[in-house]
Amino acid sequence: MKYSTIIGLEVHVELQTKSKMFCRCPASHFNQAPNSHCCPVCLGLPGALPVANKQAVEWTILMGLALNCQISDLSKFDRKNYFYPDLPKGYQISQYDLPLCQKGQLEKVRIRRVHLEEDTGKLVHLTGATLIDFNRSGVPLMEIVTEPDLKSASQAKEFLQTLQQIVRFLGISDADMEKGQMRCEPTVNLKIEKQARVFYTPLVEIKNINSFRFVSKAIEYETQRQRDEFEKTGIEKQAGNKTTRGWNENLGQTVLQREKEEAADYRYFPEPDVPPIRLAKHDIQILRDKLPELPEAKTKRFIAQYGLSEYQAKILTQTREKADLFEKYCRQPQKLSLVEIANLIINKKGDLTEILEQKSKTKITDSKEIEEMVKAVIKENKKAIEDYQKGKANVLQFLIGQIMAKVKGQADANVIRKIFEEKLSHG
Ligand code: ZN
Ligand code: MN
Repeated sequence: MKYSTIIGLEVHVELQTKSKMFCRCPASHFNQAPNSHCCPVCLGLPGALPVANKQAVEWTILMGLALNCQISDLSKFDRKNYFYPDLPKGYQISQYDLPLCQKGQLEKVRIRRVHLEEDTGKLVHLTGATLIDFNRSGVPLMEIVTEPDLKSASQAKEFLQTLQQIVRFLGISDADMEKGQMRCEPTVNLKIEKQARVFYTPLVEIKNINSFRFVSKAIEYETQRQRDEFEKTGIEKQAGNKTTRGWNENLGQTVLQREKEEAADYRYFPEPDVPPIRLAKHDIQILRDKLPELPEAKTKRFIAQYGLSEYQAKILTQTREKADLFEKYCRQPQKLSLVEIANLIINKKGDLTEILEQKSKTKITDSKEIEEMVKAVIKENKKAIEDYQKGKANVLQFLIGQIMAKVKGQADANVIRKIFEEKLSHG
């Protein structure tokens, strides 16, 4: 029996807009007093009218462009109906058949769509009671859906990290998984080749994973579980037998949550209170012009322009801050080589600016400058030189001290000593 894992990803990213998706409430909800950022719109009170957040729409398109998607000239919002206590309206405003972005590609993974929707409230479970905090209700949520093109847990994890990096480069979210700003739902099944026949196991969607490590573990666990299940039952994938499971970190297992889930269950229909979004080519071009240099392009440029290794370039382009710091120091007149600057940034933790300034000062002593200083000190200290040449070796320490004072300690004493010894021995 031969088997391979098939993985598709759904990734939700909270956008860091100032206000929520359809109202003026602040979108920030982390560590805020419960239910302090709410209004009739995000509480779903009768008669409240939603107005779409332009910034959120633009940022979602920006993401679509970064993922090489086609941007729809006509897009609309739909109601996704389901009943859940943290969803006050009884539906989520999402996008169904006309998402903002479709048919993209990142590395070898096809992107099915990127759409915009709203986040739900948060349930806070206490002993004997469950409370609801609606601060998160209505926060703009961008959803990225891939085709099932990923083949292993590690590949899925790497892809998510790349996605997070792009989101951060665009500056549209911190995408911190621990804070729930980025959540991932892998759909996993297996292709099994057995006795010259091919079988596919039923799809399993693993809900709301909030760490890269758990994504890997959940996919690995699910791969093994489906293999075992197929050997026992022989059940194959068919319409309607997709199930939903959750990752339980304590058990180290995925746990069954819901059997069957179809789009029809949500009774999607167009959101009548939000007009469709029409985009002209010109609108899209304006956004395309706003795209910053993305990690992959930056890495390639760093290799070509600065002669860095791929390893160095990749680390330096992990964040925009690191890349900018490197380039800032490259532009300044330096006593350090590009590779030295690169290695300093790569290897050092702490205040890089300080370290780099320190290092570039220290390097003064490598150059001709130090030689000139030594010559000057020899001229100015005839008496001391005589003493030294008579055999008073500790005079050298005094001479080195003269130079150290001039460079305010930012010099290598051994280098100075060497130059002194050279000059003095040759008279
Ligand atoms: Zn509100
Ligand atoms: Mn969603």
